[in-house]
Amino acid sequence: MDKVIRTITSDGAIMAAAIDASDIVFTAQQVHKLSPSATAALGRLLCGASLMGISLKQDKATINLRVMGDGPIGTLLAVSDSKGNVRGYVGNSDCPTEYYNNGKINVSAAVGKDGTLNVIRDYGAGDPYIGQVPLVSGEIAEDITSYYATSEQIPTACALGVLIDKDDKKVLLAGGLLIQLLPGADESTIERLEKNLEKLEPMTTMLAKGMNILDICKTALEGFEVEVLDETPVNYVCTCSRSKIEGYLAGLSDDDIRYCANDLGYAEVNCQFCNKNYKFTKEDLENIIKNKNEKN
Ligand SMILES: [Zn+2]
Repeated sequence: MDKVIRTITSDGAIMAAAIDASDIVFTAQQVHKLSPSATAALGRLLCGASLMGISLKQDKATINLRVMGDGPIGTLLAVSDSKGNVRGYVGNSDCPTEYYNNGKINVSAAVGKDGTLNVIRDYGAGDPYIGQVPLVSGEIAEDITSYYATSEQIPTACALGVLIDKDDKKVLLAGGLLIQLLPGADESTIERLEKNLEKLEPMTTMLAKGMNILDICKTALEGFEVEVLDETPVNYVCTCSRSKIEGYLAGLSDDDIRYCANDLGYAEVNCQFCNKNYKFTKEDLENIIKNKNEKN
């Protein structure tokens, strides 16, 4: 069962959140039939989105992370609610995979180094907050760090990792860590944290050793007294429904809907997040036209 934990040092100077998202990323890989590089890229983004989503505080809030780089993977999108539940998709699920010499997947080669990371925080009321930063490396974690530094002026460290089995290419482990300095952190706090981060092992190495997400936060915050704010189960959750898809169809022109009804005899819509298939008969489509014209 995947979980996300939020911790804080007892002096209130540093917040650390960590996620074990092995099941979530495995699910994403299965749902979208992702190549290894697409699994690693989307998996990292899903971990980042969950870690950012969990701190939104308001119940109905959501956060969207959209990466548009110049690499072969196309657009990556991950969405999290305020409970850290996520969903996402990639433009090219079959993206070719390059490896570094140490055997790790070269995510940057898939995503590209030129492009943008867009972050949209939507609180369900009023205008959403939109931030955009240029990609730093296309490795995702550094791009999220850059977003916080540039767009929100919050000093942040981020580590994200997805470990894939060399033989069957399935997800073994996935997780992430997000550390933020809170206002009032002094120089000695920053120095100590930097020393901790220098010797911190990669996320999937720590998970593979059997460390849980609290152990990982405590290791990152070694030398500080750590308090747990909350620990929450998280899942890959899609929010699609037949009525939402109907709303989307109703947004098309009458002519387009009639084309489906009369020329094709039906309409079929696949949810881009969970791949669920929705079918609409000729009669369903005629009702959609009728209903939308009654409303107007
Ligand atoms: Zn769906």
